[in-house]
Amino acid sequence: MSSSEITLEQIQSFKGKYPKQLWYLFFTEMWERFCFYGMRGVLAIFMVGQLGLTSKEANLKYGAIQAFVYAFTFIGGIFADKILGFKRSLFFGGIIMIIGNLLIAFSPNDLFYFGITLSIIGTGFFKPNISSMVGELYKEGDSRRDAGFGLFYSGINIGALLGGALCVWLGKYYSWSYAFLAAAIVMMLGVGTFGFTQSQLGPIGKSPLMSLDGSKRRIRELMVYIGSILSIPLIYIMIRNTDYTDYFMYSIGPIAVVYFIFETVRQGDVATQKKLIAAFIFILFSIVFWAFFEQSGGSLSLFAEKNLTYSLLGITMDPNVVNNTSNSLFVILFSPLLGLLWVWMASKKIEPNTVVKFGLAFLFLAGAFYVFYATKFFANAEGITSLNVFTAAYLVITIGELCLSPIGLSIVTKLSPKQMGGMMMGMWFLASAYGQYVAGLLGAGMSTPDEAAPLTEKLEAYTSGYLQLSLYALVAGVLLIIVSPVIRKLMQEVK
Ligand code: GLN
Repeated sequence: MSSSEITLEQIQSFKGKYPKQLWYLFFTEMWERFCFYGMRGVLAIFMVGQLGLTSKEANLKYGAIQAFVYAFTFIGGIFADKILGFKRSLFFGGIIMIIGNLLIAFSPNDLFYFGITLSIIGTGFFKPNISSMVGELYKEGDSRRDAGFGLFYSGINIGALLGGALCVWLGKYYSWSYAFLAAAIVMMLGVGTFGFTQSQLGPIGKSPLMSLDGSKRRIRELMVYIGSILSIPLIYIMIRNTDYTDYFMYSIGPIAVVYFIFETVRQGDVATQKKLIAAFIFILFSIVFWAFFEQSGGSLSLFAEKNLTYSLLGITMDPNVVNNTSNSLFVILFSPLLGLLWVWMASKKIEPNTVVKFGLAFLFLAGAFYVFYATKFFANAEGITSLNVFTAAYLVITIGELCLSPIGLSIVTKLSPKQMGGMMMGMWFLASAYGQYVAGLLGAGMSTPDEAAPLTEKLEAYTSGYLQLSLYALVAGVLLIIVSPVIRKLMQEVK
């Protein structure tokens, strides 16, 4: 360590609401999410329009790719904990993502799946580890942590909104090469931002093997890089054939649970183990949340396409544009406000604890799906209903998301011991992978089997599905509140 390097103590004893390093991570993640959501936004359209897939095949593959991306965060988290450290993982993941997008930009039709495979690996190394670093900016018990994650979450959504809009626009109206090239360039900005600012993170994110002899450490690091490259054909095969996705999803979850138990038992200390079990319960609940929430990419987008008016508060709007952008916009608007509300409540000693926030998330989720259901009462005789009411439901679901997603990132960093931080964050995102996967199944169950069914029938099918989701969300929220004393006991001093 050079004598001038900033220390952890200096970083963590920042004045004001946010540490300055949070802004560096904010911008790095913002660019990464631009690249990720840009890729995600064009995925289905590209596969149908360019690769000739049917929309059913494209939907299945879209779900598979999303599930893989989030599932690989678990692996990326473990390698960061054991060998690379967060910083190197981030550089490695970022560079792999850049190469993936450049390859697709170079030859979209031929290299698409190969490039997507690289994006899966790259995101796996990048995504969980940047969130873990945000957690390390704070001392244990610092009540500003949730607000910090709230701000970070805004950055995520600014990137998501811009990437989703720009890449789809470039792809549809100019060329697919430009869309993927834009994602690659922006990812370079992300890696560059991190490269220029990472020294400000001092010891945060360094390899856990710093005490080892330099050459031994480098050999292990090299093995991770080589192993990742060798896994490319395997992932490639798995995304080409969606049957394999099912097998993969059936196995990665149980493997993760067994590994989690193994690592938890190994900790030895009962207090630490209890916290890990609490984190695990939050992660389990988050699967349910994401399974419902992710209807946005599936059933809600089909509902928007057919059953909504083109008028939002009197302004002409495409309902699918509203479906794709309103959530990010609401996050950007409300996340900082909610963050400040938590800080203010903490100063008055009335801030709800994390279990209550999670419970609230489910109540908002239930409310939102009730509003999606209630759109049916605003429908005309043809089965077309109000875009205003639909958008109001997005506002409600976003408040729910803000009570769960940034708070979840934060609590995972509070409850995990340092040496398991990456893996636990990976598990948090693995839950998203399962949520994504279940979301597809739920959405498929809601759509009418007959594509040519009248819109009134479609409206009925979707809205009755949303009513059911609303009830289940309510049950999950109530269950969480009932078990909250147990979870709070497990969490001990953590709020
Ligand atoms: N929208 C958030 C992000 O992109 C949360 C994703 C998730 O966990 N499903 O980071």
